[in-house]
Amino acid sequence: MKYPGENTILVVNDIPDQLKLMTLMLEQAGYRVFTASDGHEGFQVARRGHPQLVISDVSMPRASGIDLCRLVRADATLRTTPILLVSALRIDTASVVEGLRAGADDYLQAPYDPVYLMAKVGRLVERVQMVQALHQSEDQFRLLVESVQDYAILMLDTQGRVVSWNEGAARIKGYAAEEIIGEHFSRFYLPEDIEQDKPERELSVAAEQGRYGDEAWRVRKDGSRFWSNVVITALRDESSVLRGFSHVTRDITERKRAEERLRHAAFHDTLTGLPNRALLIDYLKRCIALTKRHEDYLFAVLFLDLDRFKVINDSLGHGVADQLLVAIARRLLTTLRPEDTVARLGGDEFAILLEDINDISDATRIAERIQKELMVPFSLDGHEVFTTASIGIALSSGMHDQPEDCLRDADTAMYRAKAIGKGRHEIFDPKMHTRVMALLKLEADLRCAVERQEFRVHYQPIMSLSTGMLTGFEALVRWEHPHRGTLAPAEFIVVAEETGMIIPIGLWVMHEACHQMRVWQQQSSTASRLSINVNLSCKQVSQADLVERVDLVLRETGLEAHSLKLEITESGIMENADSAAVVFSQLKDLGVKLHIDDFGTGYSSLSYLHSFPVDTLKIDRSFIGRMRVEVKNLEIVRTIIQLAHNLHMEVTAEGVETVEQLDQLKRLECEYGQGYFFSKPMNAQSAGALIMQ
Ligand code: C2E
Ligand code: MG
Ligand code: MG
Repeated sequence: MKYPGENTILVVNDIPDQLKLMTLMLEQAGYRVFTASDGHEGFQVARRGHPQLVISDVSMPRASGIDLCRLVRADATLRTTPILLVSALRIDTASVVEGLRAGADDYLQAPYDPVYLMAKVGRLVERVQMVQALHQSEDQFRLLVESVQDYAILMLDTQGRVVSWNEGAARIKGYAAEEIIGEHFSRFYLPEDIEQDKPERELSVAAEQGRYGDEAWRVRKDGSRFWSNVVITALRDESSVLRGFSHVTRDITERKRAEERLRHAAFHDTLTGLPNRALLIDYLKRCIALTKRHEDYLFAVLFLDLDRFKVINDSLGHGVADQLLVAIARRLLTTLRPEDTVARLGGDEFAILLEDINDISDATRIAERIQKELMVPFSLDGHEVFTTASIGIALSSGMHDQPEDCLRDADTAMYRAKAIGKGRHEIFDPKMHTRVMALLKLEADLRCAVERQEFRVHYQPIMSLSTGMLTGFEALVRWEHPHRGTLAPAEFIVVAEETGMIIPIGLWVMHEACHQMRVWQQQSSTASRLSINVNLSCKQVSQADLVERVDLVLRETGLEAHSLKLEITESGIMENADSAAVVFSQLKDLGVKLHIDDFGTGYSSLSYLHSFPVDTLKIDRSFIGRMRVEVKNLEIVRTIIQLAHNLHMEVTAEGVETVEQLDQLKRLECEYGQGYFFSKPMNAQSAGALIMQ
């Protein structure tokens, strides 16, 4: 559209004087004036100059002001230019009416007051300028709307029919403007949305509330779908009458996809693609809510942990280990029903959520099936990989309010399954939880106990069976627990071993016992040949600097090496057979004696133990205690003693409680005895008194 020049007026008059006079008047008022002397010329000048206003005489000989009106109104670029007709004749009503019909906006009859003329001109020009400004801003707005490519902007009538739309709409929706103008806007909705009257409902919300916003799927002309952000705004006029709607959409498919990817990443494990802990927790929440609403709704959580994953990781590398996890995930998925959820919790831990089961046997059956499936070896990267899994099962119960509780219970049961023997499944039982809590407390207490020095050493005499004389003591640790009184090792040694606390505790016992024995030896000549037995945990055996530490204890306490006898259980040796062989020979070089504790309870064979530099075997008290009742046990004891002697080892019988046992052992030529028959373990003071007797 062509805009007229500012403050420009075309004056058309065939009488030069009148033309001049009016020109002067207008110029004085600050207008720029074009002139013409008849209607035709006036039209030509108007087309070139685009004045804001045309003031024309009505009657002119060649082409009249009325002709000019018709020409101007017929021209697209001048159609809206206001025309003021001026008539020199006093009464020319017919011409005025004709002029107004031909498109003149106003008229003025001579003789006219110049002030009156200028007021009319001023008003007309002002109106033109206002309309012009409106057009300009409308044009700019339309240009803006049209140029916005990312937004589909539709103008709808009150019925939802498309009145106009922009370039972006054509681009996003795939239609040409002519295909869609007049159509109902619901054409862009999914068929299922149309069925549910969604378009109509959205319009009425917009009409009622002024605006409706949503993110939803829409369809393009080719039938493809895209995610769109939709805003429908009601358009009302000054008197609040609804005139239509604007409907603005933006294609947000990319953003939605990115969000979807992020959401997926937040709730899935990247390696296996399985749901992760967060998603599982979410599902569990839903299941817990169901149990609250439906009494007979049951679900179960299986906590699965691979038994040898660390070994596979260490020996075959992360690559193969990762492949194994992926393969296991796949195998679990094929073993289970589609409605069950398999999640990876991290590392080699998986959890399985079985929804809506009948009873616990459904869960155990699935656990068995999983264990059977996992037994089939995996072939990965040219390796045949064998694995088993320990599974803990927790059944939903009214007690579970938090998803984490279900997982914790299944985890506890899994630990139990692992402890009993790998490749098994166990069902959670509330006692397990109590036990775990007690163990946690014990662990925390143990840490304090080391700092607060709450441990004591008790001493149990070891007697020579041939002479009946005291040969030494076994140092046995006791814990003076601030609340629970004196605790025997059975109550805390296992936890101390699991947590590694046994290392500082064991070292302290060794130091204390060696020091005590050295004190006794110095106190009396009878004590000088006594020795002290100290128990060594397998955790200590696998400690790199054990030999240095023992050596240091001997040097610090001044005890001679041959007075120290270290006891280690058979299973302790078997667990670290390689390092034990090295450590033992180094200890032997120090001059320390080595005893095998609780012999007969492990799986070792005597001939195997022969390769270790062992001095003495301590036969486990379970054989001694039942020697009389079961002939078989007596035979075992006899055989052990004979074999030990053949291997040049001495034998100590543990747990001698009766004189009959003592006699029997003497007959079997067992060298030493230890047990309640002689004495229970006692504190250092009592042991000192015993030596002095
Ligand atoms: P152990 O080394 O086999 O110690 C012998 C255990 O048998 C002691 O139990 C002792 O009190 C008990 N006993 C001795 N004679 C008899 C008897 O005639 N009848 C019966 N029924 N029992 C008898 P305690 O002191 O409770 O120690 C248990 C285990 O704790 C020890 O078995 C040892 O394996 C471990 N232990 C004790 N102190 C230490 C220590 O300082 N370090 C390490 N690593 N382990 C220790
Ligand atoms: Mg012992
Ligand atoms: Mg023992």
